[in-house]
Amino acid sequence: MQILEIAYFQHHQWQQAFSKSYEVEHANQLSVFFTKTVFVHLTGVILGVTATSKYTQSTRYICVDEECEGHTGYHFIRVHMPGASEAQTIRSDFKCTFCWKPLKEVKTCRTLADRIIAEVVPDNVFRCGNSNLCKFREQAIPVYIRGDLTRDVEIGGCYDIIGLLQKTQQIENPVMAIEANNMRKMNLIEVSPTVKFTVLPEMINELHHDRRDSPWSFVLSLAFFFGGNISPCGTYLKLKLSLLLSLMSLPPTQKALFRPLHVLAIGHDTPILNQLMNYTQHFTSRSFIHSSVNHLAGKVSKDRYSAGSQYFVEGGSLMYGKDGVCYLGDICRFRKSICEHIQTVLSNGKVTIDIASKFTGGLPQKVEQKLECSVWAYTDPVTNRKPQHFDDIFTGCETGNIAKPMLDVFSLLQFVDSGDSITRDEASVRCAEHKLRSSLEPDAGQQVSPISDQDMEQYLRLANTIQPTTSSEADSLIHRYYVASRKVRSSSGCVASIPVTALQTICSLAISHTKLSLRSVVTEEDALMAIKLYEESLTARFGYSVLSVQPSPHIPVSKTSDFLGQKNDKHMEQFYKTLVQFCSSQSYTEE
Ligand SMILES: [Zn+2]
Repeated sequence: MQILEIAYFQHHQWQQAFSKSYEVEHANQLSVFFTKTVFVHLTGVILGVTATSKYTQSTRYICVDEECEGHTGYHFIRVHMPGASEAQTIRSDFKCTFCWKPLKEVKTCRTLADRIIAEVVPDNVFRCGNSNLCKFREQAIPVYIRGDLTRDVEIGGCYDIIGLLQKTQQIENPVMAIEANNMRKMNLIEVSPTVKFTVLPEMINELHHDRRDSPWSFVLSLAFFFGGNISPCGTYLKLKLSLLLSLMSLPPTQKALFRPLHVLAIGHDTPILNQLMNYTQHFTSRSFIHSSVNHLAGKVSKDRYSAGSQYFVEGGSLMYGKDGVCYLGDICRFRKSICEHIQTVLSNGKVTIDIASKFTGGLPQKVEQKLECSVWAYTDPVTNRKPQHFDDIFTGCETGNIAKPMLDVFSLLQFVDSGDSITRDEASVRCAEHKLRSSLEPDAGQQVSPISDQDMEQYLRLANTIQPTTSSEADSLIHRYYVASRKVRSSSGCVASIPVTALQTICSLAISHTKLSLRSVVTEEDALMAIKLYEESLTARFGYSVLSVQPSPHIPVSKTSDFLGQKNDKHMEQFYKTLVQFCSSQSYTEE
C-alpha cells in the first residue's frame, strides 16, 4: 500500500506536546514561530466561529486503466494534511506509479469529517473589564478545528489549544493560523492560577473566628467592609451583599446547580451604583462590559475565511461574559427592542443568534448557547419616571419606565433609595462627604476598609470552591415561604405577584450565603437570610410586606452593631418565628 501523503504529525500525548510547544501570547508572535516547525500553545477565548463545513479526511484513488495493477486494491490513499484546503487534498493530477496513467478518485471511499474555523484571542487580552472589542479583533487568531474536537466548541469558552502554524491564502492576504492538534476546555481555577485559594487570609480568618457564634454576622460584616473605598462602610450594604452573593453563584459551582444571580440596582445615585458594580467585577475571573460597539448576543456575517462554510458567527457580550459577569450598565439607555431581547435571554437562560436564510441558503437557523454568566445592571428611577398610578393602595418604589417583565427577569432587585428617610439621608450625606474627601486627598479612601482587595479576592475564591449540600430543613422553609407568599400576594388583588423564578432565586441565594459563610451544608439560617433579603426586595418594590419586613438598603452609623451583631441575631430569630407562623397559617387556609 502506498500512502500518497501522510499527515506529518499524529495525535501526540497532551503532556508531550505541551512540553515541546511555544507559548503564543500575542498574535504578532505567529510569524516569528512560523520559521520553525514547532507546536504552539495558545490559551484563549473563542470570539466567533464559522459554520461547520465538511472536509475530506481520506479518500482512495485507483488507476484509470482497468488492466493495471493499480486499478484494484488499496495502493493509493490520499490523507488530509493539516492546513490543506479541499482543493489541495482532492486533486486530479496524481499519476499511477505502475503505468504512469492518471489516477481517479473512488468517491464511495471518501471519508468526510467536520471542520470549523474559530477566532481565538489570547486570554490575557480578555481580562476583567476589558470591553474594547476592536482591540480584541486585532488579536484574533484563526484556529482550524477538525473532527471530534469541533463538538465541544462554544463561543466565549476558554480553551487550551496545541497545534501547528500554517499560512492560508485568504481573499487578498496570506493569514497566519493555527491548526489545532489538541484542545481542551479550561475551567476557571486553571484560568486564574495567580491567587492561592487554599488559605484564608489572616484578617478574614480572625473575623470568621470572632463571629463564629452567629450564623449571619460574618457575612454581613464582610459586606459592611466591602467596597469601603467607593461608598462608606454601611452604605449600600444590601447591594454589596447581593453582589457578593451573585459572585458565589458563578462557576466553579457544580454545573447542575449553576443558577446565576442577576442583579439590578435601582437608585438615583447612579455613579455610585456604576462604581460599585465595576469594582465588584474585579473579583470575578471574567467580566465583560457591554457597550454600544458590541452586540448583545452576537452577529452573523459572510464567512470571512472563504473556506467553504456558509457564514461566520460572532459572539456578543452575553456570550463573552461566560462563567463570569456580563455588565450591562444603565438599562434605560437601551432601545425597546434590546430590552425585549435582554428579557428573552434572561428568562430562557439561553443566548440565541438567528441566522437568516440568506446565509444558510435554505431555512433560517439559529445558534443557541446557555447563558452562563450573571447579568448586572442599574437604573435611575427618577429621571425615567413613568406616570404615577393612583389605583394602587400600597405604593412601592419608583421603577421608572422599566416594564414589569424586565424587572421580573432579574433575580434580585435592589432598591437602594428605599427604607426610612433618616437613614437614606444619612447615607447620602456620608457618600457625599466621602466623595469630597477622596477628591481632596486621593489616598485617604484607601484606608477605609480594613480588608484589602487582595485578601478579599483570596477569600472569595476560596469560598467559591465550596460545594455545599442542601438540607431538607432549608429546602422546606424556602418552599413553604414561596408557596405561602405567592398565594397571599396574588390573592390581595394587586398586580404584585411574585415572579415564578423566585423559588430558584431564593435557593441560589441560600447556597451563596452558605459559601460566603464558609460552611458546607445549607442550613435553615442560610435559607432565612435568603428569604429576608428577597422579602426586603419585594417590599421595596410593592410597598408592603406580609412578614412586616422593612427594607434597609443602608445601615445608620449609630446602629451598626444592631445590624451586624447579637441584636440582629435576635431580630432574625424573631423573623424566623413570624415566618413559620405565616407559612402555617397559609397552609391552614389551603385546607
Ligand atoms: Zn496504472
